Amino acid sequence: MLRLGPDGDIAEIPEEHQAIVIGSGFGGSIAALRLGEAGVQTLVLERGRAWSYDAEEAVFGSELRLRDDMFWNNDFAVWLTMSPTLINRVPGIIEVVQAGGVQIAAAACVGGGSVVYAGVTVAPTRRYYEALFPAGIPYDEMNRVYFPRVRHMLSASAMPEDIYRTDPFTHSRAFDEQCAAAGFPTKPVATTFNWSKVRGELAGRLRPSAVIGESSFGNSNGAKNDLTQNYLPAAMATGNVRISPLTEVTSIERGPHGRGYAVRVRRLAADGTVLGTRELVCEMLFLAAGSVNTTRLLVAARDSGALPDLNEHVGTCWGSNGDAFVYRTFAGPTGLTQAAPCASTAFLEEGFGMPIRVENWYSMAFNGTPYMNQLSVAVDMDNRGTWTYDRATGKVAMRDWGPEKNAPSEAAANGFVQLLMEKGLAGPSPVLSPMGGTAHPLGGCPIGKATDLYGRVSGYDGLYAVDSSLVPGNAGGANPSLLIAALAERAMDDIVAAKG
Ligand SMILES: Cc1cc2nc3c(=O)[nH]c(=O)nc-3n(C[C@H](O)[C@H](O)[C@H](O)COP(=O)(O)OP(=O)(O)OC[C@H]3O[C@@H](n4cnc5c(N)ncnc54)[C@H](O)[C@@H]3O)c2cc1C
Repeated sequence: MLRLGPDGDIAEIPEEHQAIVIGSGFGGSIAALRLGEAGVQTLVLERGRAWSYDAEEAVFGSELRLRDDMFWNNDFAVWLTMSPTLINRVPGIIEVVQAGGVQIAAAACVGGGSVVYAGVTVAPTRRYYEALFPAGIPYDEMNRVYFPRVRHMLSASAMPEDIYRTDPFTHSRAFDEQCAAAGFPTKPVATTFNWSKVRGELAGRLRPSAVIGESSFGNSNGAKNDLTQNYLPAAMATGNVRISPLTEVTSIERGPHGRGYAVRVRRLAADGTVLGTRELVCEMLFLAAGSVNTTRLLVAARDSGALPDLNEHVGTCWGSNGDAFVYRTFAGPTGLTQAAPCASTAFLEEGFGMPIRVENWYSMAFNGTPYMNQLSVAVDMDNRGTWTYDRATGKVAMRDWGPEKNAPSEAAANGFVQLLMEKGLAGPSPVLSPMGGTAHPLGGCPIGKATDLYGRVSGYDGLYAVDSSLVPGNAGGANPSLLIAALAERAMDDIVAAKG
């Protein structure tokens, strides 16, 4: 795992910086590396903890081992297959945001979403990408330069056959068999799991983590090639990048004398106590706090008057990526556990109201049972939400997302499962499928509208957005991390070149 210095006293952080990056997920890690390589002194401010992996011990909580630090400042543990349970508020690893009719999961740790995600690394389909993005961000360029660069950096690869054939992947094989029998054959999908570690788990050399379905709250042995194992250490190795964990940005504004930017931060203890607050200043400010939190910071800055020239597109084009989870049963052996790595995917273009990509997910609660979990991402071109500022509370919230905006993508996902049931390939799950949830929040600072084609925020020199807030609500039939990372790489190429 990434070695960070001691958290120290917030008062020890120098006040002035060339660049500040808010967030250490996909956008933030990439910005940090490319700035560091360009010789720019960069401070990464990350609200969450830096976790260390362990080959033998359970580092994180999980769906079957509830702990307070699985959730960011929440009174309840709320998650797929878990009954809502009272917990203590601490700065835990996943933030659950209730935004109108949708429940959003967003990461909160050094490495951001890469620590808690399922590692599926898949590109958008050309046709839908081109309908979503401006022509000035050509698919050919993304496909030739940026998707391969990111796949290489993250060591993304498809599951080897010997692993696919093992007991914990019984549910994956059942999923593939169901899809093929229904006339929708799946294809292997690249993920960022480290297959040597997965083999180590299967052979008993490492404590089982990925193979028992741990993933959504972290893999204790570092079984995913998350950003703390590639981009972030490379950024720190430049000697120009420092990361400050448990350091939450609470607002942004213009710097002294209208130059650069000032960032208000608070340092948290692991139990949530606020240890101190500071104001830091920088010449260049990179927003990479993820779709929801970058949007919150920008909308609050515009509508409180701190950055009044942010344009009307800030806060708009937000979407759930058409996410839907549906449970069903399968026949045949169940396998003792359901491993987390996803083996395959199928893109269903026609027949379900909107195109959907279906993938076999996992659930620790389903270990040893004939139930399986399907994630689908729909190409939803229509349903979008807007985030607005409430002057009375100073908070930013979703204005206009009701359950009806989830309905088309949920209908598409249920339509596919219904078809499997009509063909006698699957049965209904007695466990109710969740509704109105997304792990893929996108948008709020749409590229080409709130920014130029490289994430430069309109109205302000030296202000950039380089994360999922750039994606206009939908990733074109894909899990979004590859697209987000590729857009960040492309933005940083241009920003760094223009600087030099
Ligand atoms: C359970 C789960 C499974 C997923 N599986 C997949 C998958 O298989 N494939 C895929 O492509 N995508 C997946 N995703 C989605 C993917 O993780 C996100 O789309 C991606 O991480 C977004 O990248 P980002 O850079 O925009 O933000 P993030 O990676 O979320 O990083 C944002 C960072 O900013 C920090 N931050 C936020 N606010 C502040 C603040 N005010 N001050 C300081 N720091 C702040 C956060 O703590 C976080 O570390 C999954 C997500 C979840 C939750």
